[in-house]
Amino acid sequence: MLVQVVGAVLERSGAPAPFASSRPFSVGPVDLDPPGPGEVLVRIEAAGLCHSDLSVVDGSRVRPTPMLLGHEAAGVVEARGDGADDLREGDRVVLTFLPRCGTCPECATDGRLPCRVGTAANVAGALVGGGSRLHRGTQDVHHHLGVSAFATHAVVDRTSVVRVDPDVPPEVAALLGCAVLTGGGAVVNAGSPRPGEAVAVVGLGGVGTAALLVAVALGHEVVAVDTRPEKLATARRLGATLAVQPDDLAATGVRAPVVVEAAGSARAFETALAATAPGGTTVTVGLPAPTARASVSPLTLTAEARTVVGSYLGSSVPARDVPVYVDLWRAGRLPLEELVSSRIALTDLDLAMDRLAAGSELRQLITFDERTPT
Ligand SMILES: [Zn+2]
Ligand SMILES: [Zn+2]
Repeated sequence: MLVQVVGAVLERSGAPAPFASSRPFSVGPVDLDPPGPGEVLVRIEAAGLCHSDLSVVDGSRVRPTPMLLGHEAAGVVEARGDGADDLREGDRVVLTFLPRCGTCPECATDGRLPCRVGTAANVAGALVGGGSRLHRGTQDVHHHLGVSAFATHAVVDRTSVVRVDPDVPPEVAALLGCAVLTGGGAVVNAGSPRPGEAVAVVGLGGVGTAALLVAVALGHEVVAVDTRPEKLATARRLGATLAVQPDDLAATGVRAPVVVEAAGSARAFETALAATAPGGTTVTVGLPAPTARASVSPLTLTAEARTVVGSYLGSSVPARDVPVYVDLWRAGRLPLEELVSSRIALTDLDLAMDRLAAGSELRQLITFDERTPT
């Protein structure tokens, strides 16, 4: 039986900015199928806005529309399809944006390569079980990265969620799904700094700041790089030992053994390369436009024995990595609440996308009133 939920549907990609004027989102009723085999129905408690949502809104990442966006969220399991027996109604779950089939060759790489089955479903705007569970009358609405959390409820594959204990508040749990898995994983899984090695982070949005917080939590000195003075001030407050603008970085002479590029631009990638020490590793987790090109000196890579690593979702295995970050948070070492720069309603999405595009936010979170009728 269908349930009617309230969601923010992106009608088309490539609407002109400002989105407060072009209004690409329609907030209204959406029909949601019940969870199929291996799927769960989740009541969304909090959902973050990420640059990967904006990339679909502005058309720099081509996805089928209409699409219900939102890929970083937390909520409570309300119903289960057959085969999702290890979860219970009432469990709080983190929703993650790359389902894992667990059996393909890519899933055997411990997170280094994205699951081919999950990736194919994500590109199609479908669930891994095939097709869409979201409709408006006879029209299908596409899923975004298997999550579609800009709504009161979502039906997702069991492999898109990780259960957390109820003491983890919804806002913290939501951030774990993209910002922390991606930024933290870029440091821990892809960069793998040795104890005492410094970590540099280029680009201090939600993902970059999460990388900073995780590196600080693990005892590394952190060099923070961003073009915005207010982001540098935040980075210092959160524990960065040095916070500089890209143009000032060379003058400091500082180069780090592990550098994470989290800005998603070719220029930031070049800055990250320049900030990497001989023998060091440059990790890129940003998602620039497919046409972006950067300038690289192959000689420098050779002469300095450098490594460049691309890392999707921080090379994470969510079921393995989420509990690690939860333990750090619970121990008071990972103050994820600091990532929340504002709380908004579903109806604020157009304006919130403008703020995201302006680069003035860490994470804006949509929060939901439990009493929202369905
Ligand atoms: Zn994201
Ligand atoms: Zn797989």
